[in-house]
Amino acid sequence: MKWSGRRQSDNVEDRRGFSGGKIVAGGGIIGLIILAINLFMGGDNTEILNDINSQLQQSSSQETVELTARDKEMGQFVATILADTEDVWSKIFKENGLTYKEPKLVLFRDAVQTACGGASSASGPFYCPTDQKVYMDLAFFDELQSRFGAKGGDFAIAYVIAHEVGHHVQTLLGTSDKVRSLQAKTNEKGANRLSVALELQADFYAGLWTRYNQEMNNILEEGDIEEAISAANAVGDDAIQKRSQGQVIPDSFTHGTSAQRVYWFKKGFESGDINQGDTFDEIK
Ligand SMILES: [Zn+2]
Repeated sequence: MKWSGRRQSDNVEDRRGFSGGKIVAGGGIIGLIILAINLFMGGDNTEILNDINSQLQQSSSQETVELTARDKEMGQFVATILADTEDVWSKIFKENGLTYKEPKLVLFRDAVQTACGGASSASGPFYCPTDQKVYMDLAFFDELQSRFGAKGGDFAIAYVIAHEVGHHVQTLLGTSDKVRSLQAKTNEKGANRLSVALELQADFYAGLWTRYNQEMNNILEEGDIEEAISAANAVGDDAIQKRSQGQVIPDSFTHGTSAQRVYWFKKGFESGDINQGDTFDEIK
């Protein structure tokens, strides 16, 4: 994907410099092992004890983590994609006589507090409608990058950001509220089907965003669409459940199968028409 040189959004909140002190604690543990070896060998431990003490003090007072060059580049990439979503959705809203309100995007490491409650890296990227912020962690980027190869899987990450922004669009358009009130009136199975439709529409919006962004900024390189599709495949509920539980239980799906996610992403990309994104019609 081509991304350098374009506008970067001011709506990124970078909280990656703050951590639970994991790295420092790791140093402390190594220090303790050295201390144990030294005690065993009968050496002088004053220096090592001082070293461990200062490390422990550091970990309690200043829990900051230095960002690597790659972390910084990742931050610039995310800010560019977010700016692309702002430009595209402002245009689409305007075309429909509406005004787009930009969301914030929070980059975090390990754990984060949100208006929707606390979250960790394990929960994956998500959107919180209460504070209208997208939350993403570095660990997830690493996972996507290692899965999608040397090129870095940049478009796979862009797809995930576009999907989360899709949930923001649903919040602005009132779709999320409508779904929640319908869910309150139905059983668990019906509520799940509504959740799936909401997720698939976010995939449709990601496809629509790709189409508009291609027309506005000529972003695509060979293999990008395949990358987004394989990301959609990898994060489908059936794929996730197979990995985590070893079996697939369709009734508890809340994101849709991999095939459904691919279908709706492609429909958004190929149609370029927001009116084609009624994922709810098919589950009635
Ligand atoms: Zn989603």
